[in-house]
Amino acid sequence: AVPPAAAAGATAAPAPSGRRPGPYDRKVDALLARMTLEEKLGQLQQLPWAYDTGPGGPGTKAVEEAARAGRLGSVLSIFGARTCNALQRIAVEESRLGIPLLFGLDVIHGFWTTFPIPLAQAASFDPQVAARDAEVSAREARSNGVHWTFAPMMDVTHEPRWGRIAEGNGEDPYLTAAFAAAKVRGYQGDRLSAGDRIAACAKHFVAYGGAEGGRDYNTVDVSESRLRNLYLPPFKAALDAGAATVMAAFNTIGGVPAHADPHTLTDLLRREWGFDGMVVSDWNGVQELIPHGVAEDGADAARLALNAGVDMEMTSTHLVTHGKRLLREGRISARRVDEAVARVLRLKYALGLFAHPYADEARAIGAPSARSRAAARAAASRSMVLLKNDRGVLPLARSVGSIAVVGPFGDSTDLLGTWVMPPAAEKFPAGTVLDAVRRAAPGSTVRHARGVAPQGDDTSGIPAAVAAAAACEVSVVVVGEPPALSGEAAARSDIGLPGAQRQLVEAVAGTGRPFVVVLVNGRPLTVADWVARAPAVLVAWHPGIEAGPALADVLFGAVNPGGKLPVSFPRSAGQIPVHYNHENTGRPYSPDDKYTSKYLDLPDGPQFPFGHGLSYTSFRIGAPELSAGRIAVGALREGDTVEVAATVTNTGSRPGDEVVQLYVHDRVASLAQPVRRLRGFQRVTLAPGKSRTVRFRLAAADLGFWSNDPQGEFRLEPGAIDLYVGASSAADQKATLTLT
Ligand code: BGC
Repeated sequence: AVPPAAAAGATAAPAPSGRRPGPYDRKVDALLARMTLEEKLGQLQQLPWAYDTGPGGPGTKAVEEAARAGRLGSVLSIFGARTCNALQRIAVEESRLGIPLLFGLDVIHGFWTTFPIPLAQAASFDPQVAARDAEVSAREARSNGVHWTFAPMMDVTHEPRWGRIAEGNGEDPYLTAAFAAAKVRGYQGDRLSAGDRIAACAKHFVAYGGAEGGRDYNTVDVSESRLRNLYLPPFKAALDAGAATVMAAFNTIGGVPAHADPHTLTDLLRREWGFDGMVVSDWNGVQELIPHGVAEDGADAARLALNAGVDMEMTSTHLVTHGKRLLREGRISARRVDEAVARVLRLKYALGLFAHPYADEARAIGAPSARSRAAARAAASRSMVLLKNDRGVLPLARSVGSIAVVGPFGDSTDLLGTWVMPPAAEKFPAGTVLDAVRRAAPGSTVRHARGVAPQGDDTSGIPAAVAAAAACEVSVVVVGEPPALSGEAAARSDIGLPGAQRQLVEAVAGTGRPFVVVLVNGRPLTVADWVARAPAVLVAWHPGIEAGPALADVLFGAVNPGGKLPVSFPRSAGQIPVHYNHENTGRPYSPDDKYTSKYLDLPDGPQFPFGHGLSYTSFRIGAPELSAGRIAVGALREGDTVEVAATVTNTGSRPGDEVVQLYVHDRVASLAQPVRRLRGFQRVTLAPGKSRTVRFRLAAADLGFWSNDPQGEFRLEPGAIDLYVGASSAADQKATLTLT
């Protein structure tokens, strides 16, 4: 079972004030004592590197000069052993103190080897998928001079219109926490100074996923209980897993921009949790305090951010520019500056940069290895979700006489997803579905027609696609969103198939021939307008470098799909937010009663719920059995647990995977509770006819909840807690645990 990371630390004693002594303190203190104020402020500055212009290019001269002057601590968007080394040499050999630079890059779901997008990875319900991505990414990135990634992103969201949903792990804090922790461990390993590890960054702190209307960077207003129950648990889990750094978020929280929020950045992160690593701003987040309307000018912005708890300023240069004056005027303190600098220096020591500032150019990894590709392929196929499969259209038979591959993504290499660095996309594009289908079914006639473009209203290609489909025994219709429609600054108000793709699906349905719709997507899509006409629908997300081969694995049954939705698929955009972990109103939805919480023009609930996903075989999950039907609150507080066991049986005729899911619902509590909360999941592989008993342990952290107290009050209250076990958030096998 997955550890109860979601609420880990819930019952831990408050962190002691002041930090514990660490291994690099003496060195850091000695160095600090030799630094001028300018050099100290310099360590708190990160500048971007225009990696397409190369050393000496227009975007890089200023960076080199800052490094030489000792006015620079870190550089972002830089990679390449030679490029990094050349710049590092300036810092180490030409600056007064020779402090090495820290090189950061957005390695989000791969460096050369692009894994499926993080949202897809979450659909595997297997945190090992994220761990493997992180290990491969760290090895490739570190060998190319990168020390630090701005990942994992762990912003829980109920907003599928928000483009950055692709970068996170969906709508649930427990699932996200498990993936965040696994990814941090994968990046960092046991020792940051190892040649194949990089520092992780837990981002974006915090509540960025709450952006109103899903518009990126938008306002967030969140209660303390929602902050603590929904948005914070993944960060706690990532920091418990050792994440070295944290990135602030662009949004406000109740009117306070996160970059200027001492409640979250200091009271919570530092005092309550005892985090002692470095906090970096997000891009121009310090500068943006001015348009947010809380800072008068750059100096004011630097003051607010530093005093709230930001240690390093990315991109904008207010602290390095105005720091001296702010100190003179007593608006920031020398102690706070030293504290921030010490955090930067400690990270550099931990990464081994003082001893080994340079990448080994001879050993720089230049391409994905066969093993990395195999890992990316397995990750992609494990992440796919079979939404429906009527009439057993899937799996396809390799012996099928003819197959049509239609749709704008059938022969597309644009399947890597958001946040892929341009050289990786150019050199190592995704394998196409068309090629993979040809290879998987060498004896069949494969026809191909795009039908329509990914975007745009031109329907003139549809007749050719229909002709291909009509001429073949079965069609694979590959439709969805191009990666450019998801990710940062890619909010959509309508999350249906873009352009004329819906017309294409309907035209293919009109042939009366069997077909499967493959969705390539960076977010949940609304499918209500056509899904009833599609016999089979497979969600592939943006699958990464091995997109085609992984899809062929699933389509032809070499891999039996076992992924589950990490986020609800709404019926329409007007229904958003719709998520499984909502609270009841005083008037829960009822189809018979007008005065309830419902839309007049929509049935209740999403199109497909959180946790849903089918298989080519079938499973039965038995009723949950508890090790004890009652447990005392006091015993739980002291560390006692209750075991929940359920037996899952493969009742079909193929081997396959089921994800057994455990949900809790506190019936009566001092705050209204979500109708369900995920508290355990386990993906198991079973041969036909075989059974396995899956066991979960419920601890205090799983059964209680955070109140609205800003000081952090975790409540564990007597009463009945319903436990549901099953194959989705609609699980209906139930038992009740009583807390006394
Ligand atoms: C994003 C961050 C990212 C940073 C650096 C920002 O726009 O919000 O997630 O790490 O850019 O590229």
